[in-house]
Amino acid sequence: MITTGINNTFFIHTFGCQMNQADSGIITALLQHEGYSLADSEDEAGIILLNTCAVRENAVDRIEHYLQHLQGLKKRNKGLIVGVSGCVPQYQRQEMFSISPAIDFLAGPDTYRSLPLLIQQVRAGQRPSSLEFNSAETYEGIDPVRQGAISAFVPVMRGCNNMCAFCVVPFTRGRERSHPFSSVISEVRQLVSSGYREITLLGQNVNSYHDPEEGLDFAALLDAASREAPLARIRFTTSHPKDISEALVRTIADRPNICNHIHLPVQSGSSRMLALMNRGHTIDEYREKTALIREVIPGVVLTTDIIAGFCGEQEKDHQATLELLSEIRFDLAYMFFYSERPGTLAARTLEDDVPEAVKKRRLQEIIDLQNSISEVLYQGAVGTVVEVLAESESKRSSQQLMGRTDTNRVVVFDRAHYQAGDLVKVLITSATSATLIGRPEYSVDYES
Ligand code: SF4
Repeated sequence: MITTGINNTFFIHTFGCQMNQADSGIITALLQHEGYSLADSEDEAGIILLNTCAVRENAVDRIEHYLQHLQGLKKRNKGLIVGVSGCVPQYQRQEMFSISPAIDFLAGPDTYRSLPLLIQQVRAGQRPSSLEFNSAETYEGIDPVRQGAISAFVPVMRGCNNMCAFCVVPFTRGRERSHPFSSVISEVRQLVSSGYREITLLGQNVNSYHDPEEGLDFAALLDAASREAPLARIRFTTSHPKDISEALVRTIADRPNICNHIHLPVQSGSSRMLALMNRGHTIDEYREKTALIREVIPGVVLTTDIIAGFCGEQEKDHQATLELLSEIRFDLAYMFFYSERPGTLAARTLEDDVPEAVKKRRLQEIIDLQNSISEVLYQGAVGTVVEVLAESESKRSSQQLMGRTDTNRVVVFDRAHYQAGDLVKVLITSATSATLIGRPEYSVDYES
């Protein structure tokens, strides 16, 4: 039961990954079901929730910075409740309340169902937290509230059973658990009937999906999703190299509406570093997987994640990473230098022994090389015609739309008579290292 006569509207700030964006949709649905309503802005809200991500150190810094702002807002808006949910309170449970006096309550990724109770407890004068792991929680039966009407995320699993040495996810999101096959497909069906044009199947390690009812794997799930939504694009992220199966690769090749893009984090080009990172594969195994992908899926685009300066990294390991980038020629990479996260396997067992100046120099070399590769690849698209799903107005001009190719390249093109949601053939006339620019040719439809 909600309390009447007080401000029961809420506003959510979402930090971090797509999984967190999907979780914010679950939180919105849960609170609305309990009678709370979405505020148009944080100034009007009675409850502000920061739904947080702990993967990158700067994400935590951003939250701390934001809490300072909310402390000021609380002085002007008496009765305002501020909660922090998601991975950061799960990860920093001991220190979290001391980070800012603005925080009224904490909730972890497995305890969103307790948010209404936590709000009531704050109003009763408590400063509660609910940070228990619940390995059975998949938020089954919750119909998330989504932003936009073109692209939708569908979480197919939660948590992760890998223990990559640098990663906090196993400590914030707990053990891996998959949603039932039938419920994922029914969600896809509902999204299609609501007019969504692009559906992204989400999981921390999406390709280790394992249907809890019949044991079906991710290849089967992806195939079924693509058949259920023949007029929509189907994407998925994030994949682990060790869980790329031949069946999965062939499914992507066989189904026309599964996008020809795989984000496949490699982290380092050195098998020695991959072993220290506890990644569960060697660099030769990674090469074999990418060779299979490129052989079976013509035109496929690969993107990746790289960490520079992980514990014990020597110059020859760094050179191996540069060589791998030159060899594989990823379209894009998310590149960071290593920063130790307390509690992780690396923090407990390895020495963070690469000096910061060396980490930064190596990262810059990686960025420079990758940017030059991306630039050549993008320039190579000039003069070609690509199929773009228009997502929104371009940030720079109302006369242009922004969208993506099925290979996930960003395209900005002249609007003409098109609008968000249209599938448009675009002639690429110029390119930067991260964006293709062009003009429309004509609109298209998938053949089912
Ligand atoms: S696969 Fe590794 S990096 Fe990815 S979420 Fe799991 S532990 Fe973290």
